[in-house]
Amino acid sequence: MPGPPSQADRPVLNAMSVDVEDYFHVSVFDGIVPRSTWGDMESRVSRNTDRLLDIFDEYRVRSTFFILGWVAERYPQLVRTIAQRGHEIASHGYAHRLVYDQTPHTFREDVRRAKQGIEDAGGCAVGGYRAPSYSITPRSLWALDVLIEEGYWYDASIFPIRHDRYGIPVSPREPFYVEREAGALMEVPGSTVRFGPVNLPVAGGGYFRILPYPWTRWGISRLNHVEGRAAVFYLHPWEIDPDQPRLRAGWLGRFRHYRNLAETESRLRTLLTDFDFGTVAALLKVRGHVTPTGQIVPLALPYVW
Ligand SMILES: [Zn+2]
Repeated sequence: MPGPPSQADRPVLNAMSVDVEDYFHVSVFDGIVPRSTWGDMESRVSRNTDRLLDIFDEYRVRSTFFILGWVAERYPQLVRTIAQRGHEIASHGYAHRLVYDQTPHTFREDVRRAKQGIEDAGGCAVGGYRAPSYSITPRSLWALDVLIEEGYWYDASIFPIRHDRYGIPVSPREPFYVEREAGALMEVPGSTVRFGPVNLPVAGGGYFRILPYPWTRWGISRLNHVEGRAAVFYLHPWEIDPDQPRLRAGWLGRFRHYRNLAETESRLRTLLTDFDFGTVAALLKVRGHVTPTGQIVPLALPYVW
């Protein structure tokens, strides 16, 4: 008789997350598609998100959907469908403005309007937030105070990497508890593996599409089985839509946005076969960061900025 599984053999629940936005909302197209013309663009977000919902059903995966408030206002039924199919609804802000380009006042209005719109459409509470392009950085940490005051209990906007537009390289690599003047919240960072002094992203977005799939598989395996950590994976509905209209941008932006769109769905299916995924809220619960009643439990070493 085989003995009970050791800690190392036990499957780790990773978090699956989707930033629900249309292809023209992406930061790289800021200035190319002005916000005043968003309503005139061909929208593909509902169809692409429905497709992701069907794939997740097929693999029995529950995901967190960080929904853009602008999308929730126009497609409330989509938000309701996401919630009714058993997923977690959360906020991606309202107008997809980078946090560090906003004032605390405009940021507050943005995250308040998004939370209200998503809750009204979905019929349940929103507690999680992810900033457009991970734009909570050393110069926009004030945003954490605003999120706490506006009733969010976790944030997933800090990537502990060096990048041209975002990142706090010294930030912890796994969920941690942040104490601020306004109160406390959990921070759920993007997933990385460590090479010497450098953290490299391994779980989602352009890194998933542009680099060969074995990079993602190796990275998540390393996190799960060597470090005993969960991965937080992220993708966007437009990433499984190779037929989306092509917009003009600089070569780097075009490369990051359009590379390997036709491969993403089959890669996603492989990923869902290789690893276990649940919602971000479920991950925090499994990892002991949240009590069954939803209260936040401080980690052993509260991390204070
Ligand atoms: Zn986004």
